[in-house]
Formats: sequence, structure tokens, C-alpha cells
Amino acid sequence: MPRIVYSTDPEPVALCPRCGRHPCVCQKIDLPPRQQVAYVKRDRKGRAGKTVTVVYGLQHTPAAFRQLLTVLKETCGAGGTIKENELEIQGDQREKVAAKLQELGYKVKLAGG
Ligand SMILES: [Zn+2]
Repeated sequence: MPRIVYSTDPEPVALCPRCGRHPCVCQKIDLPPRQQVAYVKRDRKGRAGKTVTVVYGLQHTPAAFRQLLTVLKETCGAGGTIKENELEIQGDQREKVAAKLQELGYKVKLAGG
């Protein structure tokens, strides 16, 4: 379900919870994998209840996210998409995704069910 963001949000100067800055610089900073923790969780989407594997907590530019998504899709042989700063891979691919992320240098934590 799409989140609705109202332009009259009463907290215009809230610091970004990810980068701790205002304005947010999440889209501009690309940290190397060794400085990052990748959280991997399984999630169910929509009415069909399809399982997806979600990777979140990463700090990358949109270009770097696209690159990483391509690598993970190839690793899993599955489709995937980018939503804000999260990567979604179709199916329960946590083990493959976690192994690949570790190989790339990330610290990996499995989260959720
Ligand atoms: Zn931010």
C-alpha cells in the first residue's frame, strides 16, 4: 500500500533517521560495503502474499543501489526492485543474499521472520 506523505507535515526540520542530517543526504552519500551493515529480512507483499527478500539499512547512491540490485538478482536468479532505500528480491532468498553481501564486504544481519 503506498504511503501518503502530506506536504503539510508538521515536522519540516526533522532530522533524517538514516543519515542524521537535514536536509537528508542519503541520496548523495555512497559508503563502501566494509563500513555498512546490511539487514536482510523476509517479507510478504500484497494480497497474493508473495514472499520477498528485503535488504535495508544501506547507504548508497541510487546508481550504486541499482548496481547492487543487478548483482543480487543474478545471484538469486530472481527478479527484484528498488523501493526508496530498500532492495527487494523475489522469493525467500535470504541465505543467498546474505552470502553474496558478505562476499561483497558488508556485515550482514538477518532480521525479522
Ligand atoms: Zn537521510
